[in-house]
Amino acid sequence: MKDSPISSTVDFEKDGVQHGFLKLPHSHDDSAWGSIVIPITVAKNGQGPTILFTGANHGDEYEGPIALFDLASQIKAEDISGRVIIVPGMNYPAFQAGKRTSPIDGGNMNRVFPGDPEGTFTEKIADYFNRTLLPLADFVLDFHSGGKTLDFLPFCCAHVLEDKEQQAKCIAAMKAFNAPHSVMLLEIDAVNMYDTAAENMGKVFISTELAGGGTSSAYTVGIAKKGIRNILRHAGITKGEMEVNETLNLDMPDERCYVFSETTGLVEHCVDLGDKVKKGQLVAKVHNIERTGTEPVEYFAGIDGIYTGRHFPGHVVNGDFLGIVAVPV
Ligand SMILES: [Zn+2]
Repeated sequence: MKDSPISSTVDFEKDGVQHGFLKLPHSHDDSAWGSIVIPITVAKNGQGPTILFTGANHGDEYEGPIALFDLASQIKAEDISGRVIIVPGMNYPAFQAGKRTSPIDGGNMNRVFPGDPEGTFTEKIADYFNRTLLPLADFVLDFHSGGKTLDFLPFCCAHVLEDKEQQAKCIAAMKAFNAPHSVMLLEIDAVNMYDTAAENMGKVFISTELAGGGTSSAYTVGIAKKGIRNILRHAGITKGEMEVNETLNLDMPDERCYVFSETTGLVEHCVDLGDKVKKGQLVAKVHNIERTGTEPVEYFAGIDGIYTGRHFPGHVVNGDFLGIVAVPV
């Protein structure tokens, strides 16, 4: 396979703190010999584990980038043993535009792994993570939130993996992050995800969904910052007491957890995030906005549990995700 077109201005083997860029040539109308420049910080102190932090895998999810820019501005080499790699804006063109996907090529970073050094810009960035950054890491924390179209109870998540020893390490890392909710997340389609690429390499991988709506709050940013402090201690990179609050453990045993719309219209949520719901309970109605006098279409929970995620904007179309019911364990 071809070399990556991305070059780094930081040396991943050098001790100390370096702030630099991943540079990807991008020739366009405003700059014929221009570049996409993705900010990166590497902090290293001797031998030890490596953690790779990423935010803005989707460009409209903000807790991760905020907490990671903050971490990058404050990290000191003398406070760590091992290495911390921080990329607050993974899909940087999407992040700059405040969009889920790249405005240059439409690429959804979390659907293009393992990427391609000769592909689209998004695929080239994914390939760099897949072949250069992921192999350096022992622990990988990829921050997500709901973005403009989803909203969640704030949670840290791990996946069911074939390798049960690796799965146990991911669950331990999820518990160390200590979000208010800890979810064994069943993905709708895990193919081509960054998560899957990291897990297939045997990495200890965790992710988050910290609320959503295309914004952030003091509460959710606080969860992200505390999670970073805890995971650094858990990995043995920093010292200090774990900050532990109560977490509700949730499981998603199968696709009954998901509610999807089969109609287009105006959504009326009949339960709120955090509500207990019973199998068969009405969770949402979709109103036909083309005419008056028609009954809304009703949608029901497929399983007993806690309403953990939902569609955010007021309108839905056929096929849209309406909500998630996760099961307390
Ligand atoms: Zn996301």
